[in-house]
Amino acid sequence: MSQAARQFSIRALANGVTTHEGLCNAVLAAGPEDNLVLLRYEEGKLHFPPLCPNCGQVADSRLKIERPFLIHIYNSGDSGNYTEPSIDVLEVPFCATCVGRRGAEQIAPGPLTSVKRIFSEAEGVAGLVVIGISGLFFWSALGSLSLFPLVLGCFPLMIGIWLIRPVWKKSYYMRLPQPTNVDMAVDFTPYLGLAHEPRWRAFQFRSRGYMEQFRSANAGQLWSPQSAEAKSAAEMRVKDEVKSNRLAWVLGAALLLWIFWVERC
Ligand SMILES: [Zn+2]
Repeated sequence: MSQAARQFSIRALANGVTTHEGLCNAVLAAGPEDNLVLLRYEEGKLHFPPLCPNCGQVADSRLKIERPFLIHIYNSGDSGNYTEPSIDVLEVPFCATCVGRRGAEQIAPGPLTSVKRIFSEAEGVAGLVVIGISGLFFWSALGSLSLFPLVLGCFPLMIGIWLIRPVWKKSYYMRLPQPTNVDMAVDFTPYLGLAHEPRWRAFQFRSRGYMEQFRSANAGQLWSPQSAEAKSAAEMRVKDEVKSNRLAWVLGAALLLWIFWVERC
């Protein structure tokens, strides 16, 4: 298949459109033309080739690559579905020229990013309104030179901060600069893995040659969906499903018996 036919892109799935399971399945369905390498997690055992993944020159420098990812979470509760952010960080060897080019290409987040972060969740907006109310108390304290409204105003201020704090923390990914053409030579997913599988993640490279060298350098930790371990995990997932179906049947039968008994009485 030609390079133009390449379909799969890790970044295209990073904006909350996919669930954890959907991302696993999309990665596993990608073809060899997509230049993916799947590696299982083994601490301190990740190796990058000593070449720049962008231009192929000797890698005499390093780039810190931060990749945010939003995973869609189904939630049947009152709060409904939501997205869970994560940020994965890796230090990747690049050549000094490409490191410099990436610095020039990188665009810092705009001045309105802080506002967007607070407005990213309803709790952030509510927190802002409550802080506004505390401002009214402070204004009154200033006008009347009285301590009482100042003390009163501290309560909504604290509630406002309490509401905004988790939103601020959760939206940290929004202050990361967008990936540049240089650092998109390398991309990676958060840690994945279906039930009963070890943790693994997918790497995607623009250069096929670099991808092959990366795969050789990490040959000991390759994750294959065709491995005995992956097949055994798939069988265990099927058994789990059968067990939960059986449990549903037993509960359903017990409920029917109870209804029958109550109606007889
Ligand atoms: Zn380079």
